[in-house]
Amino acid sequence: MSVHVELVSPEQMLYSGDAEMIVARTTEGDIAFLPGHAPFLGSLGIGVVRIILDGDNEEVAAIHGGFVEVRGGNVIVLTDVAEMSGDIDVERATAARERAQQAMDSEPTAEVEAALARATTRLVAAGAADEASLS
Ligand code: ATP
Repeated sequence: MSVHVELVSPEQMLYSGDAEMIVARTTEGDIAFLPGHAPFLGSLGIGVVRIILDGDNEEVAAIHGGFVEVRGGNVIVLTDVAEMSGDIDVERATAARERAQQAMDSEPTAEVEAALARATTRLVAAGAADEASLS
């Protein structure tokens, strides 16, 4: 049994395929979607979505807010800004994270905090930072 997943941004379909499980960070916490999941609508925070293809393979995306919907057994992730791990520019995210960290030290704002979360999420999705650095 597999579950069909689509990751959609306003500009493009970032990913479409079948998976064993999808793990998404909703504003209520991490949720795993398995085949046959009941209809669901939730909002997504800034975080990583893991599309687990089988025991050894997964696709990872950095998601910067949006919605996840389960309808007709399909999982649809709708987001304004997202990147698949392979499309992430690690140098750019590292620089963005350093900038945001410095700004957090001198003048923390919600905007700076969100920029830090975006950069950290990109680094985690790209495998360049530990998942623990997200929380
Ligand atoms: P930066 O300060 O590096 O611009 P940001 O968090 O302010 O980062 P966003 O406003 O979230 O950037 O994104 C602007 C666009 O750039 C989006 O299309 C996003 O997908 C893309 N983007 C941002 N950072 C990266 C990255 N490190 N690798 C690939 N694409 C990125």
